[in-house]
Amino acid sequence: MLSLVSVPPKNINLYKNLVKQSLLKEIKSVSKKLQKKKIIFINSTSQGGGVAEIMQGIIPLMQGLKIDAQWFVIPPNKEFFNLTKQIHNALQGKPFAFKKQQKDFYCQYLKKVASQMSNMEADLWLIHDIQPLGLISFLPNIHPVISHIHIDTSNPYVPVWDFIKTFLSKYDRIIFSNKNFIHQGLAKNRIKIFPPGIDPLSKKNKKLDLAKAKKILSKVGINTKKPLISQVSRFDPWKDPLGVINIYRTVQNKFPDVQLALVGIFLAKDDPEAEKIYQQVKNKVKEDKNIFLFSNLKQLPKDVDLDIFINAIQTGSDVIIQNSKKEGFGLSCTEAMWKENVVVARPVGGLKIQIQDKKSGFLAENPKQMAQQIIRILENPDLKKKLGRAAKQRVQERFLIIHLLRNYLKLFNELI
Ligand code: UDP
Repeated sequence: MLSLVSVPPKNINLYKNLVKQSLLKEIKSVSKKLQKKKIIFINSTSQGGGVAEIMQGIIPLMQGLKIDAQWFVIPPNKEFFNLTKQIHNALQGKPFAFKKQQKDFYCQYLKKVASQMSNMEADLWLIHDIQPLGLISFLPNIHPVISHIHIDTSNPYVPVWDFIKTFLSKYDRIIFSNKNFIHQGLAKNRIKIFPPGIDPLSKKNKKLDLAKAKKILSKVGINTKKPLISQVSRFDPWKDPLGVINIYRTVQNKFPDVQLALVGIFLAKDDPEAEKIYQQVKNKVKEDKNIFLFSNLKQLPKDVDLDIFINAIQTGSDVIIQNSKKEGFGLSCTEAMWKENVVVARPVGGLKIQIQDKKSGFLAENPKQMAQQIIRILENPDLKKKLGRAAKQRVQERFLIIHLLRNYLKLFNELI
């Protein structure tokens, strides 16, 4: 059975000091027609990763506007999520010999899930990413229906794209976060482009004093008198944590006491690769006492929950690194920018949209450049302040959950 994820409603007026009055007015106006309408959102995990983060922010706000927004996750299944992770990787460009038997399994699993949905009704449906994408083939009546794709499909492995395209073309609208992600074969008039956003009032993103952040970091053994660079990302090949260690080692030549934190707590049920990548990272770290790996909630102090810990890392690190080889958007980057931190990232996908190089962070082409930019920030606190302020402003103007809410509601109005 699909499970319902319960979240309490939230009043949009709470955001009145964070965004323009005109934006809130627009949202209230476009939400009118949607009041009491039932909108069902479906994804594959309630925790871990960007989509769950978006849902935790957006559903309460829609409910606060009296829209009957409901969030369901499909039942977890190891074999199915192993396969969908391979499809996900192939859509980001990794070759994958997709066998007929696997295609059949993808369809059969979703057919079974669909058979448990016969009593579900809605005025509009929104299906996130490719795990539940194929449901459409077994629920021909769920219109209007939107597919929201969060990964970088600019250069997919074509045989897998062709398979996925057969489902995508059944949707009334498809949302991508970047126009470069639109691959061939989709009807242009069905495509919408807008980025996701972060919730500035969540525990993860609310202002945390630097002193408090550092206290939390010291509780997990980090020396707050020494420089700290961090990456907050699932242990995933696309996030290239092994590459982060090489960059850290180059920074060490200049700052021998630099520390590195890699934070990727295993939570996402739909990501079976994390354990394997974590082991590879662990083998590479060896005995280095200045590298801190966080993969398990039990490593956190008892009085600190995960969101506060992430907040502390993003607030208290001297530099944030986002070494993704591909990135649909990268909410981790947005979160750090919102905290006026400087993110040094590869110039890919959503990271390129968020960071204006040398203005609101750094985009670096290769590991050597990345290490150079990190060193530059560690040596120059004034530069950090300047870039950090610009980073926050950029997020405030474009990448908050309120902007996403406006874009969703406008689209829903178009379809209902
Ligand atoms: N995240 C988390 N715990 C971790 C690592 C990441 O809560 O140990 C969160 C992170 O703060 C962000 C989301 O997971 O909100 C990651 O979203 P992003 O878009 O960066 O990447 P995705 O995982 O969706 O590829």
